[in-house]
This record gives sequence, C-alpha cells and structure tokens, in this order.
Amino acid sequence: MLRPILTNKELIQLMELIKESKSIFICGHRGPDGDAMGSALGWKDYLQALGKEVFVAMPNPCPDFLRWMPGAQQVKFYTESAAEVSSAIKKADLLFLLDMNEASRTQEMAAEITSCKAKKVIIDHHLNPATEGYACVVSRPKISSTSELILRIIYQLGGYGRLTRAAAACIYTGMMTDTGAFTYNSNDPELYQCISLLLGKHIDKDRIYRNVYHTYSEHRLRLQGYILHQKLEFLEGRRAALFTLTREEMKEFHFIRGDIEGVVNMPLQVKGTRLSISLREDTEKDVIRVSLRSVDNFPCNKMAEEFFNGGGHLNASGGELPFPMEEAINTARRAVEAYKHLFYDNPAH
Ligand code: 5GP
Ligand code: MN
Repeated sequence: MLRPILTNKELIQLMELIKESKSIFICGHRGPDGDAMGSALGWKDYLQALGKEVFVAMPNPCPDFLRWMPGAQQVKFYTESAAEVSSAIKKADLLFLLDMNEASRTQEMAAEITSCKAKKVIIDHHLNPATEGYACVVSRPKISSTSELILRIIYQLGGYGRLTRAAAACIYTGMMTDTGAFTYNSNDPELYQCISLLLGKHIDKDRIYRNVYHTYSEHRLRLQGYILHQKLEFLEGRRAALFTLTREEMKEFHFIRGDIEGVVNMPLQVKGTRLSISLREDTEKDVIRVSLRSVDNFPCNKMAEEFFNGGGHLNASGGELPFPMEEAINTARRAVEAYKHLFYDNPAH
C-alpha cells in the first residue's frame, strides 16, 4: 500500500476543484522534458476518465525522443500553435501547472496563464513553490519526479484501477528520466512501489528505456564525441567541468532539440569530478542556456540562483545568461571560483 501523499485539506481542495470544472488546461515548463510530458499525459488520462475536457500544452516543443509517448502527438506547443493554445487557456475553468514551481517557467505563456480566469493549481517537486494566486499548491521537493507525484495522487484519489497502460507508460517515462534511469535521486523505497504499480499495468519498461535513450541519430552520437574530445575543459584539479556549444557547432552536427540531453552528466563519470556545467546558445532566443549537474551535497541550485538566473534541484539545476558566450564563460569561471571550497568536503561514501 502506498502511503497517502496529499494532506486531507489538499485532497478535499483538489477533489472540489476537479468536480467544479468542465474544461481543464494542463501545462508543463518551457523545454518540456520526460517528466513534464509524462506527468501532463498521465494527469490528462485521469481527468478525461472523469469526463472532463482536457487540453495539454507546453510552451515549446519537446525533444524528438519523447514523441513516441502515447498522447504526445496531441500536445500543443505554444511556439507552434499560439492561437489554439490561447483560446484553450481562455476557455479553461481549471488550470494545472505541472513540474514547475511558478508560472514564469512557462516563459512566453506566463502572461496569459497569470491573467486568465481559471483557478490555478501547481503540482510539482521543485523547491520554493509560488504561494500567491493559486487555488492549491501541491509541492513535494522530496519526491523525485512530478510524474511519481501524479501517480500517487491518482492512487489516492482512487483512480489507479482506471489508469490505462498508455498513461502508466507516460508516468514511468517521467520517473525514469528525472532520475537518470534510477541512478540518482532514487533511493526512496516508495519509488519502487510506484514502479511496481505501473508494471501492474503491463508497461514494457525495457522498451521505454530504449525509446528514450537508444534513439540517437549518428549526428547526435558524433556531437557527444566532439564535445567530450574538443570542448570539455576541467577546472580546479578536475573537481569541476565546463563545456560550451555554439549555434554554429550545432549546425555542423545537424543539431535537433534534445541532442545534448544528458551530455552534461557525462563529465561526472570522471573520478573526483563533482560539478559539471554546460553553456549552450539557445536556438530560439539570444540567451545562453545553462545546465548544472553535481554529486553528493554540492548545491548546484544555489549556484544557479546566484550566478545563472535560475534554480532547480540540489544536483540538477539550470538557468539562463544573456548573450554572448564569452561573458557566460566568465560567469561560469567566477561561479566555480566562488564555490571551490565546497569541492573538497566530499563525504567518503
Ligand atoms: P536542465 O539542465 O535539464 O535544463 O534543467 C535541470 C533542472 O534545473 C530542471 O529540472 C529544473 O529544475 C531546473 N532548471 C532548469 N532551468 C531553469 C531555470 O531557468 N530556472 C529555474 N528556476 N530552474 C531551472
Ligand atoms: Mn521534474
């Protein structure tokens, strides 16, 4: 038996909000990942089974390696279908923001979301949830993915029996991608109870793994090789690693969205490396996208807040810097310098 995840108050609030609504809008964060997509599609399935009209949108497209997810083809991306998404926002009487701690993570959609008439609910696992302007905020930073949180909520609401295999596959995908296929942030025994429940819906988890991780193009594999061979630099006696990627290089390797997903984790495979920073020119906006990964107790979310206009989790964070790259590199070097004292208090376990 899974322990309840919602307090009684949250449970009642959520049930009331759903009961009173007809048209529901679900949104994930910009740069939708497996968890944003998985939680949105899993939640949609539950709400549709209750007879609700549900619209799922993301600010911009998800990577190609998530397009196989059941239901992904029906998700609308604001950068591609702004008018359709806008009218769905206007029509909605209930709006769920998933896998984000505040509406600003939807970037270009944030203004419309904040000003619409719908009641708003956050379901999320990031730190520092917004408090103002929401009918209900379900924030569980200790849970490793929003997808797991959604499963547990569905379970508590009595919806597990009706959960479809397709929705279970989406939820599993989000749980898998937010934990690096259960290699980090994945020591909670209840996580495996959740997996067991999903396997009970006959998902093919081995196939899901291959769908997500083994669908590289040749260009993607070679881009990884290029970054590791030509671009990766180690700092502070290999305690930290840094690489950059420009639009020109992306073009050379026929870059498509998602192609450097996971590369930022790779320098952490080097013995003793505790922090990895990736700086990438955004393909749509004139900004540098920053990704940070760390191990143990190195707080890359603090670093992201302090230096990169961002935030995130202890070991996986991100942010954004103004163009150009040279300045971003300097900022990254300053960040490493400022945090270098933390590279050395490494608990030996
Ligand atoms: P990624 O490196 O995969 O883009 O992001 C890793 C994690 O960092 C995300 O799951 C999210 O929690 C956080 N993150 C990424 N970008 C931002 C950002 O611009 N602002 C904030 N607050 N968090 C971010
Ligand atoms: Mn997540």
